Amino acid sequence: MAIKLYNTLTRKKDIFKPIINGHIGIYTCGPTVYSYAHIGNLRTYIFNDILKRVFLYNGYKIKHVMNMTDVDDKTIKGSKKENIRLKELTSKYEKIFLEDLDDLNIIKPNIISRATEHINEMIELIKVLLKKGYAYKADDGIYFSVSKFKDYGKLAKLEKAKIGKSRIKNDEYDKESIQDFALWKFWTEGDGDVFWDTDIGKGRPGWHIECSAMSMKYLGNTFDIHTGAIDLMFPHHTNEIAQSEAATGKKFVNYWVHGGFLTMKDGKMSKSLGNVYRLNNLKEKGYSPLDYRYLTLTTHYRSPLIFSFDNLDNAKNSLQRLKNIIGETKDDGKKDEKYLKEFENAINDDLDMPNALAILWKLLRDEKAQGKIKTIEKMDKVFGLDLLLKEKFEIPSEVQKLVDEREDARRKKDFKKSDELRDKIKNLGYKIDDTKDGVKVSKTN
Ligand code: AMP
Ligand code: ZN
Repeated sequence: MAIKLYNTLTRKKDIFKPIINGHIGIYTCGPTVYSYAHIGNLRTYIFNDILKRVFLYNGYKIKHVMNMTDVDDKTIKGSKKENIRLKELTSKYEKIFLEDLDDLNIIKPNIISRATEHINEMIELIKVLLKKGYAYKADDGIYFSVSKFKDYGKLAKLEKAKIGKSRIKNDEYDKESIQDFALWKFWTEGDGDVFWDTDIGKGRPGWHIECSAMSMKYLGNTFDIHTGAIDLMFPHHTNEIAQSEAATGKKFVNYWVHGGFLTMKDGKMSKSLGNVYRLNNLKEKGYSPLDYRYLTLTTHYRSPLIFSFDNLDNAKNSLQRLKNIIGETKDDGKKDEKYLKEFENAINDDLDMPNALAILWKLLRDEKAQGKIKTIEKMDKVFGLDLLLKEKFEIPSEVQKLVDEREDARRKKDFKKSDELRDKIKNLGYKIDDTKDGVKVSKTN
């Protein structure tokens, strides 16, 4: 069945056609590992995971590459601030990032490529650009000449008139400053011990060249899908296209798929506003990472999502309710093809997960439907919400003690005490049911 994806290059939903039948190559801009990933970053990686799972569901084989930006302006600044070596800083945050992915049921990339381990590939690419006349040497680095690449503005739909003649050394800049950008930055004192002594000069790479070199190394000069959040469209992805296509003379990427931003009620998440949350902060407040995953699936991946704890509470309750209903549903070993078809239509229509969730709820509420469990099992391959996993909850020792005391009271036929103990247990958020197999303890919602 055809998969439609919104392609930023064409600004419409395109029917996906792979370069090699049944296979896709995906490149995702990974995190800049100078600090913790926040839940906004993680929204982007969940969307990316859904994209992969939809292709897996459709029977594709995936080669997924994600980079770790472990050298750039921000990482160097970070290592100075924490007064540790660059590698020490980036390894620490890379490890925490990968743990977050695990917690969120995000399937790991096949290849994780660190920028610092691909300096040679970047240098080779810069040499090609120098040779072809797209790059030039200035006193503080080697720059890409934006005006030489005629399609420079095609992804971000930039106006030609705006393209300036000056240079910019910083990795990040806004649309008002379309200038020649740095491919290689010559060493300055501020870089400390972060440099590579190479035949194009002593220095370090710019951020943009990292992704061009690593994606083409693993996926070829032209590959299927490149992802990131929408903020990367300019300058990062615009510059990736310019560098890669100038060097190879071939189309770099067929489908550019960008996710929407996660914002807070008061606008951007920013350290100065004190509203930046990590996954761990949510866990400390009693939410499970999958509550957050559920929340992100309730909004289409391209739409902005405004985060609030009210929304997260709703997501948590919905997920809990889903699991409760599923827990009470019998597995009759069948599948419901009608619902699966509806589900496939939704996920293949530019990953419409809010609609896919609505179909799941409809299935559960449909008293006539059969084959619910096996159908949900298949759907959950895409949702990744562990819908069929029985909750592994541990009874806290204080609750277990009260349960034992109550059993004892019941044996002694002291029903007054037994009821009092039941109330105490209830106040702690647990409920007990006396079944023929013995007493069952569960959490109240
Ligand atoms: P960074 O670590 O800053 O390079 O960002 C990692 C990824 O997170 C990139 O794809 C960014 O575009 C994305 N990103 C950054 N902030 C947000 C946000 N608030 N919401 C969604 N994605 C974001
Ligand atoms: Zn990138």
